[in-house]
Amino acid sequence: MPRLLAFLLCLTLAGTAHASYITQKLNKPVPGGVAVIDLGPGAQAPNARFEGKPVLVVKEQDKWLAIVGVPLTQKPGPATLSLGTRTLGFTVGSKQYPEQHITLKNKRQVNPNPADLKRIDAELAEQVSAYRSFSPGLPSNLILDKPVNGPMSSRFGVRRFFNGEERNPHAGLDFAVPAGTPIKTPANGKVILVGNYFFNGNTVFVDHGQGFISMFCHMSKIDVKPGQTLSRGAVVGRVGSTGRATGPHMHWNVSLNDARVDPAIFIGAFQP
Ligand code: ZN
Repeated sequence: MPRLLAFLLCLTLAGTAHASYITQKLNKPVPGGVAVIDLGPGAQAPNARFEGKPVLVVKEQDKWLAIVGVPLTQKPGPATLSLGTRTLGFTVGSKQYPEQHITLKNKRQVNPNPADLKRIDAELAEQVSAYRSFSPGLPSNLILDKPVNGPMSSRFGVRRFFNGEERNPHAGLDFAVPAGTPIKTPANGKVILVGNYFFNGNTVFVDHGQGFISMFCHMSKIDVKPGQTLSRGAVVGRVGSTGRATGPHMHWNVSLNDARVDPAIFIGAFQP
């Protein structure tokens, strides 16, 4: 193909992508990001799955779009979305996440004892099960409000070393705000899990619909109960430092198809 023609074709394809507001805002196909995949027109929403898990599908103008959460553990390169009998390929790019070194006085929070480990396993299972719930209703909004007003203090995806030992990467976004600050749900939702966990402290899970889930933790106080439905902006609890936290802050996870993704994408603060 002549070089000029190839260049023009690229421009056209890029132009098409820009036509979709959702794609423009949310498509960050990297580990820990979101892949927005055009499923074309149709009367009914296609049934999309990624890694065997159901995926959020929304309609924009006349097209269906799959909003796929790409796990941090995803290898860059080709990936596949399943649509019943057919598949659609997409490409996951790469992203380097920085390191963060944290010193904890409470050594049990770095190397938990056997009783702690038992507790942590049970709590993890409970939380993973919440992340895997898939309710049929569509999210009220995909562009989310910040749950608190304040500066971001620790970014998503940073590789964390506690007292020099590497642990799980940071699966959410931190905001530096004073203890007691109200935390507001960034979209309508239903409270699907409330708990007091070893690492996360006082925690609330809000299901926004179709596997799009927010989790808030380290709270000083929880203001909601499981099963409660919430309107966008409703207060779920107050900022605190319960669980493994070095001080009061708001930690927010966003999950799609059981993949924790960068909440900054949804508030327009993502850094490539
Ligand atoms: Zn955090």
